Amino acid sequence: MKPYIETNKRRFFEELFSLLRIPSISAKPEHKPDMYRCAERLTELLKEAGADEAGVFETAGNPVVFGKKTVDPSAKTVLVYGHYDVQPPEPLEKWRTDPFEPVLSKDPQTGEDAIYCRGANDDKGQLFMHLKAFEYLLREGKLKHNVKFIFEGEEEIGSPSLPAWVEANKDLLKADVILVSDTTMISEKVPSINCGMRGMAYLEVTVTGPNKDLHSGHYGGAVANPINTLCDMISSLIDKDGRITVPGFYDDVVELSKEDRANLARAPFDMEEYKAFLDIKEVKGEKGYTTLERTGIRPCLDVCGIWGGYTGVGSKTVLPSTAHAKISMRLVPNQTADKITELFERHIRAIAPPYVKVEVQRSKGGNGFLIPITSHAYQAASKAMAEVYGIEPVPSRGGGSIAILADMQRILGIDPLLMGFGLERDTIHSPNESYLLRQLFAGMESIALFYQYY
Ligand SMILES: [Zn+2]
Repeated sequence: MKPYIETNKRRFFEELFSLLRIPSISAKPEHKPDMYRCAERLTELLKEAGADEAGVFETAGNPVVFGKKTVDPSAKTVLVYGHYDVQPPEPLEKWRTDPFEPVLSKDPQTGEDAIYCRGANDDKGQLFMHLKAFEYLLREGKLKHNVKFIFEGEEEIGSPSLPAWVEANKDLLKADVILVSDTTMISEKVPSINCGMRGMAYLEVTVTGPNKDLHSGHYGGAVANPINTLCDMISSLIDKDGRITVPGFYDDVVELSKEDRANLARAPFDMEEYKAFLDIKEVKGEKGYTTLERTGIRPCLDVCGIWGGYTGVGSKTVLPSTAHAKISMRLVPNQTADKITELFERHIRAIAPPYVKVEVQRSKGGNGFLIPITSHAYQAASKAMAEVYGIEPVPSRGGGSIAILADMQRILGIDPLLMGFGLERDTIHSPNESYLLRQLFAGMESIALFYQYY
């Protein structure tokens, strides 16, 4: 596919940039019109790439883009999944360029060419590779599979509307494999294919003390401060060995065999590089597990946001009435989001001291999943990536969550295959998100070869 990329590069950039310029931020309701604009633009790109049909479909939330190309009804069908929604760009002051104006420039550290923009990797850049690999195969007369595309606009908020849409459109989505590029490779030098991902449970906890904000001089020391109390409660959730203290939390966690752990340990990992990348002196996590195991095969609990009281400029002496925290728990296969949410809520209520009230708001969670590396699809992807990178990819476990994939696997009865081409350096969800051109193009080549070997 290399020569095709070379010839069409300029057009590729224009097309991808047209998607990147649309601020399709699913977390912010005021961007609803952008969701439709982005969905429409994707539909155009699908048609231009050669889809027989492509359209925007309503769901209970943001629209879904669906397109397909049938080359032979008896051939196997690949269902490509991607998401066109992106994370909010904040904090804006940390961006070196406009988050929604794509810029082609050099990585300040390595000098490599990269596209800088929110969504450059996650997931507009990665889903774009599928459009172009498809276009190439079709135009060169090499497409032997039927291809379906489903692009959703709610992945970054947990895909609340997609399961129902998938359930209602099972026939439309019939396929043999779900092909996804929305993950990262384990290192710059060694490619990897994700064969499992973590699930997630997410809750917001509100702790209320007195019925109104109080003068911290008149009441401080005599009435419990909900922020102090919430901090105490949160700090008790993880013990000194890095284990989560919610009763029953680990009950369903499957311990990996020595052999499986050895297999995962084949993945290259440079602790010094890792710490330097994050500018931290030490890592921290559950005792008895390596860093890769901590993010791949072990669950974790993190406060994603905490607020309350006065946070403006200067000082305001207030003993606030309420304190809030958003808490995520990444889960491993066999743990379910529903059960963990239940256990967490019960526990957080149980540990609340009598001088505060606790409210818990649940968000939609998702379960993790595993993909057998013996499958034909995995093998085809492995062969394709080995050819492009010159090294056989390592099977890895992703620390992140794509909740909808576990749902789609369950509803459609098809396994997903995660051929992700992101790198840690891309800083997705953070300021200055970017995507290396060499990964964008290597991804297109690998995907085109996947179709050849599948
Ligand atoms: Zn993503």
